[in-house]
Amino acid sequence: MKVEIGLTQVPMPVVFVGHGNPMNAITRNSYTRGWESILASMPRPEAILCVSAHWYVRGTRVTVNEKPPTIHDFGGFPKELYEVQYPAPGDPVLAKRVAGLLSPTKVLLDEEWGLDHGTWSVLAHLFPKADVPVVQLSIDGTQPAQYHYDLGERLASLRDDRILVLASGNLVHNLHSYSWGGRQTKPFDWATKFEHEAKRLIESRDHRKLIAYEALGEHAMLSAPTPDHYLPLLYAIALCRPSDALAYPVEGFDGGSISMLALRIG
Ligand code: ZN
Repeated sequence: MKVEIGLTQVPMPVVFVGHGNPMNAITRNSYTRGWESILASMPRPEAILCVSAHWYVRGTRVTVNEKPPTIHDFGGFPKELYEVQYPAPGDPVLAKRVAGLLSPTKVLLDEEWGLDHGTWSVLAHLFPKADVPVVQLSIDGTQPAQYHYDLGERLASLRDDRILVLASGNLVHNLHSYSWGGRQTKPFDWATKFEHEAKRLIESRDHRKLIAYEALGEHAMLSAPTPDHYLPLLYAIALCRPSDALAYPVEGFDGGSISMLALRIG
């Protein structure tokens, strides 16, 4: 009989990243260096469950394929970005476990999708060898914010089995106000106001207000004019335990209206 003495199981941290521009996949900058630092003092995960803003569809789905394809879900970028492959294996056993945990919500086992750039542009820096299995969970765009928080809560046991839950979006994501053309610009007041308020609510564990973010005011509506890039945050904070430390491995704004904030929980 195997007896382990003095070993306490530390829950796996949970990570929310602001992925920003797809070009971050093949660039090294202050954001990507911050992503690399996220893994410091973290056990190597057995597998990764990624909730990406870019799988925003009707229905809750998990990728069940053994070899998920790398999806280049964007247009107008340099050829070399389309040549990036992230050949991480899938994990059908984890996918089915996730579907079970989310019961009674009906989860579709999906073999059509793969890894979109919300996932691989970040994982290319965290695990460049693509040697950790990855499963993606979709965001059901027909459901309200509370639904997504509730699903996140049901995934709690994954943390005890060394599964890294990675939520990839952007806390502030307004492409209409984005400074196109690469010119760096000061972040908009409404953007910094919302990020500041969201951080305060994350730190005080006031998740109710983060779920009802649309009621926070006009600055919130300008920061998350569509829910797709905001909702991944709710999956991450739903997994927060009272004893978890909170850290922001990446901070800053891109183009004035994209928050690159990353949050490590635990
Ligand atoms: Zn995006």
